[in-house]
Amino acid sequence: MSQQVQDRDLAAVIGLEVHVQLETDTKIFCGCSTDTADADPNTHTCPVCLGLPGALPVLNEGAVEAAVKLGKAIDANIPERTRFHRKNYFYPDLPKGFQITQYDAPICQDGELEVGTGDDRRVIGIERAHLEEDPGSLQHVGGSIEDADYTLVDYNRAGTPLMEIVTRPDFRAADEVRSFLAKLTEVLEYLGIFDAERDGSLRVDANISMVDSEDLDGGPSHEVLESANRTEVKNISSHRAAQKALAYEITRQRNQLERGMAVEQETRHWDEARGVTVSMRSKEEEKDYRYFREADIPPLEVSDWKEEIPIPELPDARRERFQAEYGVGDETASKLTSRKAVADLFEELADEYDAGLAATWVADNVLGELNYRDLSLDDVADRYDEFERLVELVAEDEITSKNAEEVVLRTMLDEGRGPDDVVEAEGLGKTSGDEVAQAVTEAIEENPDAVEDYHDGEDDALNFLVGQVMGKTGGSADPGQVNELLREELA
Ligand code: ADP
Ligand code: ZN
Ligand code: MG
Repeated sequence: MSQQVQDRDLAAVIGLEVHVQLETDTKIFCGCSTDTADADPNTHTCPVCLGLPGALPVLNEGAVEAAVKLGKAIDANIPERTRFHRKNYFYPDLPKGFQITQYDAPICQDGELEVGTGDDRRVIGIERAHLEEDPGSLQHVGGSIEDADYTLVDYNRAGTPLMEIVTRPDFRAADEVRSFLAKLTEVLEYLGIFDAERDGSLRVDANISMVDSEDLDGGPSHEVLESANRTEVKNISSHRAAQKALAYEITRQRNQLERGMAVEQETRHWDEARGVTVSMRSKEEEKDYRYFREADIPPLEVSDWKEEIPIPELPDARRERFQAEYGVGDETASKLTSRKAVADLFEELADEYDAGLAATWVADNVLGELNYRDLSLDDVADRYDEFERLVELVAEDEITSKNAEEVVLRTMLDEGRGPDDVVEAEGLGKTSGDEVAQAVTEAIEENPDAVEDYHDGEDDALNFLVGQVMGKTGGSADPGQVNELLREELA
């Protein structure tokens, strides 16, 4: 019947469930170390995180503290009393057969996070953020989840503290999701409760439906949200993948609806390699999980204690302060504050030398050259001292800023060498006053025509002579100083 393309004005509605691992020394309900990056499989386990009968969980104070920090950062209500539930399901990564999580009393409720600046500014509602334990991890050998020969399971990850952050369906486009994840990562990093570098430390399930645009006016009603068939895309593990998966899913659902066909309410899997979402199963419902109270963990009281947990200055506040205190523009301030390490680097340099110099060097030169090379800040995380030293060389007038930027910084990034090493090897140390004076004298002697033209009032003649001196000093003289010396000599 209606395979015909229909002319509908559709808009996307997206809500996220983001799982972030909290940085704690030990797991959420036992004393096993979470430092498992280089560990052999199943070596960071104990009866509690293996779910052996009779083992009793004890709640990690550090995980609760991290959750409270996040709650404060997103302006959430943190109820006096919260509690834990068991969420029952059967899967090999979950040895107990249930996950300890929060259900009807999450530790953070009704928060928000602002994304974008200026006219693009948007507030994304956060319905809840709750504590739970991470399951173990599965390794599909010889293929993907669909065609592997067999699957191995590693319980090192089981019991790592997780925060599940559930947003309201406030996103309207895939790129908004990407900005949100970037902002969330920033905030978590500033709070010192998250390691973005850690494999799988942020995982996203994205819920998406298409509705008629007119139904979005004044925010979609509960009925509209409920009646729209949505898919939940799982297995998204990066900001970029989230954007790609959602862009794919928007197109898929739109095509489906415009052909007059329904969108199945289902769980889909993001296949990163193929760049498509594939159907996994029909969506599970809450009742499938048979939630019941976790009797082994007493209710958690955070009322007085939460007041004593401080949070540091967050990216938005720091951005505004940088503008006010160091006189940098909005865009530069955003670049400088997007990562804590960068903001720290800038602030150190600005306080030590000069704010303008520090801003140019960090926001334009360093970030610009990294960007050009497709390098991330994490790729150079251990080289901040070198950038600092490079700026020091410029600030102390030991090399020209031109050489610093065009030779030293680029060589540092391309060849992995330190600034002093490059300066030495390329002979970029500023030429001493004597050498410059010598070169000035030579240039004047060797170019009588230019000298004559200069005295005849031709401006270009001076530029020519400056060029000659720069050539003689291998570009390491300061052009301003050369200019001045020439004028003095020729006067
Ligand atoms: P469930 O009962 O399936 O867990 P929730 O109401 O708890 O559903 O919402 C889960 C996620 O789905 C939330 O991030 C929410 O914002 C999002 N969501 C709710 N309705 C829609 C919709 N119509 N389209 C897209 N996402 C939605
Ligand atoms: Zn353990
Ligand atoms: Mg839900």
